[in-house]
Amino acid sequence: MALDIQTIRQDFPILGKTVYNKPLIYLDNGATTQKPRCVVEKMVFNYYNENANIHRGVHFLSQAATEAHEEARQAVQHFLNARSSNEIIFTRGTTESINLIASSFTDECMSAGDEVIVSVMEHHSNIVPWQIQAARRGISLRVIPMNERGELDMEAYEKLFNEKTRLVSVAHVSNVLGTVNPVKEIVRIAHEHDIPVLIDGAQSVPHIPVDVQDIDAEFYVFSGHKIYGPTGIGVLYGKEEWLDRLPPYQGGGEMIASVSFEKTTFNELPFKFEAGTPDYIGSTALAEALRYVTTLGMDNIAAYEHDLLRYAEEQLERIPGMRIFGRAKEKSGVLSFLVGDIHHYDMGMLLDHLGIAVRTGHHCAQPLMQALGIEGTVRASFSFYNTREEVDALAAGIERVRKMF
Ligand code: PMP
Repeated sequence: MALDIQTIRQDFPILGKTVYNKPLIYLDNGATTQKPRCVVEKMVFNYYNENANIHRGVHFLSQAATEAHEEARQAVQHFLNARSSNEIIFTRGTTESINLIASSFTDECMSAGDEVIVSVMEHHSNIVPWQIQAARRGISLRVIPMNERGELDMEAYEKLFNEKTRLVSVAHVSNVLGTVNPVKEIVRIAHEHDIPVLIDGAQSVPHIPVDVQDIDAEFYVFSGHKIYGPTGIGVLYGKEEWLDRLPPYQGGGEMIASVSFEKTTFNELPFKFEAGTPDYIGSTALAEALRYVTTLGMDNIAAYEHDLLRYAEEQLERIPGMRIFGRAKEKSGVLSFLVGDIHHYDMGMLLDHLGIAVRTGHHCAQPLMQALGIEGTVRASFSFYNTREEVDALAAGIERVRKMF
């Protein structure tokens, strides 16, 4: 089904804004996405009509809010095709989900000298939590390299496994290169060695269909705000037997079965990992966002954004001095580039004055920048609400900046 982009754009009031008297062209969707009206309205509705702390309340509002929160959990379960809603833990986002696993998995399954395999293209949030555990517990990181197109070197990956390997933790889609990593193959190889896998889905879940049973990773994480939901809510999917096995991450209300000063027992899944008042407004708004993209169809979204990316590559390649980073065969809608020796920051600032929002810098992937031998890039990242006309404006804007230098 072809998406009707002009109608879709009407759902996103912010896209009608002007900045510096120019129509806003928002190409920073990798950092966060804009929100459709239904998501914002859901939050307003909940605060006006169903706001009460959940789970322990006997009163009407508390029960309504509890029901909405648990329905949201089921919505996430169905969206990811998880087996059970017990496998869905609400967190603050990808970063918190990875920190949770880094902490609880290391507590339960790792000791000094043990290794986690990550890749050279990880976001800092899939590097630093492991380094914190490295400092605390003496574990270490092994790194999958990539080829010049920005694809993981799968032969090198296989060779990283040894008797010290305990976990593989890699991104599904690179936020800098757009590479769609072969996660099924990554998981298959890890499982041959009896090693569990965590997949960082921050850049995949909003853009391509994801089926956690098909991928078969033990853990899969993503952020609500990158898939048209609110900030401050995210998801950790984990296979039930693994989440059962791992100790809690934080202590507090909600995650306990009983507490005395002598002994505390923990609640069952999923509550064991949700200490304190959860973001029940955020969870229900996230469910609304998932309904929104499901109605458009994740396959349609992936096809449209892929087409837009190819069009953008064609337009940008015509610009003299253009260097595009990330030439993987499987790519999602992320386009990182530099032009001649124009600093990425200057390019970003000047594009901004033309109304074009792109991101510049290291994109929280400094080790990847080191591997590429650069300090940073300019990154345009696309959504289904972006158009070919906006890509044309980007190309014209870059050309204008180039001529200024
Ligand atoms: N991983 C990847 C691949 C990302 O792109 C991002 C966000 N830029 C994150 C993790 C962190 O996501 P969040 O800040 O929402 O926790």
